[in-house]
Amino acid sequence: MAAVAVANGSAVNAVAGPSWATREAHIDKVISRPGPWTDESFEPAEVKTSLRSKCKTLVIGAGGLGCEILANLALTGFKEIHVIDMDEIDVSNLNRQFLFREKDVGRPKAVVAAEYVERRVPGVKIVPYHGKIQDKDDAYYMQFNIIICGLDSVEARRWINATVVNMAQVDPANQDAYKALIDGGTEGFKGQARVILPTITSCYECSLDLLNRQTTYPICTIANTPRLPEHCIEWASVLEWPRVHGDKNIDNDNPDHIQWLLEQASARAERFNITGVTWSLTQGVVKNIIPAIASTNAIVAAACTQEAFKFATTAAPFLNNYMMYSGNEGVYTYTYAYEKRKDCPVCGGESRELEIQKDWPIERLIEMLIETKDLQIKKPSLSGEKGPIYFQAPPQLEEQTRPNLTKTIGEMFEDGDGITVTDASLPFQLGIVLKFVA
Ligand SMILES: [Zn+2]
Repeated sequence: MAAVAVANGSAVNAVAGPSWATREAHIDKVISRPGPWTDESFEPAEVKTSLRSKCKTLVIGAGGLGCEILANLALTGFKEIHVIDMDEIDVSNLNRQFLFREKDVGRPKAVVAAEYVERRVPGVKIVPYHGKIQDKDDAYYMQFNIIICGLDSVEARRWINATVVNMAQVDPANQDAYKALIDGGTEGFKGQARVILPTITSCYECSLDLLNRQTTYPICTIANTPRLPEHCIEWASVLEWPRVHGDKNIDNDNPDHIQWLLEQASARAERFNITGVTWSLTQGVVKNIIPAIASTNAIVAAACTQEAFKFATTAAPFLNNYMMYSGNEGVYTYTYAYEKRKDCPVCGGESRELEIQKDWPIERLIEMLIETKDLQIKKPSLSGEKGPIYFQAPPQLEEQTRPNLTKTIGEMFEDGDGITVTDASLPFQLGIVLKFVA
């Protein structure tokens, strides 16, 4: 019979079932003695208490990543975990969000996930909150040591990032105000895990330019020199469909329409010796869907949990600070230190400059802001030192400030003037300094 030695020297029966003693024996082995990379301050007894009774962890998101993270944390010996999610379970979640069953459809994800993990891992306490992260204030976030995000929304990530960095900035001398923020993300076969130490490492906002805009292909490539199956599908939907069907729109959910596009795209692909046009790819390109892949979630969630474990135990140095994973062709991971941006509106101290020409209309300034990749804003409102320049809402203010849109930059501003940009997706006010160029 197999027996597993635990830290205190006694032996427990590993075959007896998933009792606490056996479940935690593996974890105890890792934290009962220092390893080659362990921090000097490592103290096994203290580490055990810290992991088992002091460390409070928050998981944001109980979807594809969140389910994995919750189960991993519970099985790694974390004892108090909170989880926030605003969604209810949909039948389409069941293939990968493995804490949910058909009978749970319609119920809050956070609540069902908490019930399931508590039932399967006795001794762990999971506190669910069904709602938005914005419902909670600084005092709520202050109670946690580690915050792990398994989100699919840029907006929510920006909000929690700005909140956590701000807590550290408000009280820089208070060690407890520095929360380790671990962020996981997946997109199809690609994913990443990163560690954010507020004000110390780069933050989420520092790296917004890593985000992809919606994929679009140059029309000349689609029309003349296709190289990818996607080009053929785009050709069928963007050029061939209107030529044949006139004003009739494509209905993404109509199988006959998808079938028609598939046939056209396949014929074109054959002419150009391109392979890979399939039904699901056609549907994906037309609907612009990137499928959620369970194995990518599992890998990224494991990486996030491992970082949380390292924070809670100091058993090994944590990730510095960005790990990317790609399973598109083979399996590849790469780790690097993403650098802090000095003009990051959340964690940087320097003001951000924008080069503009003074004979441009204000309208063009707004377009420039929308096109700036690392700002990720859609409907910015502007104000200057003297008051509103252009407000997108409410309607009365929009009407009153609309005449400013056609005025020139030079009429409204001096070189070096500051403007404040607000937008629904910005969790903060963005200050920008205008720099006139010829
Ligand atoms: Zn930053």
